[in-house]
Amino acid sequence: MAYDPNNIFARILRGEIPNNTVYEDDYALAFHDIQPQAPVHVLVIPKGAYVDMDDFTAKASPEAIAGFFTAIGTVARQLGVVEDGYRVLANTGANAHQEVPHLHFHLFAGRPLGPMIRRPR
Ligand code: AMP
Repeated sequence: MAYDPNNIFARILRGEIPNNTVYEDDYALAFHDIQPQAPVHVLVIPKGAYVDMDDFTAKASPEAIAGFFTAIGTVARQLGVVEDGYRVLANTGANAHQEVPHLHFHLFAGRPLGPMIRRPR
C-alpha cells in the first residue's frame, strides 16, 4: 500500500491537527490516544512516512528503527508504567484491523490487561 500523506497521523506530525504529546525526539512522537482503551493509552509513531510494521522494517534505516524502538521504551519509563507492566501492540493490515495507515504502536497500561487476544468461544 502506498503511503497516504494525508492520513491523520501525518497531519499530526505536520502540526495540522492538535495532539496531547507525552514525548518527542528525532525519531518518534508519542501522544495520548483520543479514545483510550486503558487508563494509560499512548500511541508512539515514527517521524518517517511508513504505512505499517512491514513498510517500516523493510524500508527504514537501522538508525531510524533503533531510534523508534528506543523511544517506545523511553515513553514507558517516562509514564511510570514499567514496574506494574504494560503492553505494546501494532496492528498491521486488514486482519489486525489497522485503521490509521501510519505505523503506530499502542502502549496500554494502568490496570491488568487480561489475555492478549480474546479466545474463541
Ligand atoms: P488502529 O486501529 O491500530 O489503527 O488504531 C488507531 C488509533 O488511533 C485508535 O485507537 C484511535 O482512537 C486513535 N486515533 C485516531 N485519531 C486520533 C487522533 N486525532 N488523536 C489521537 N488518537 C487518535
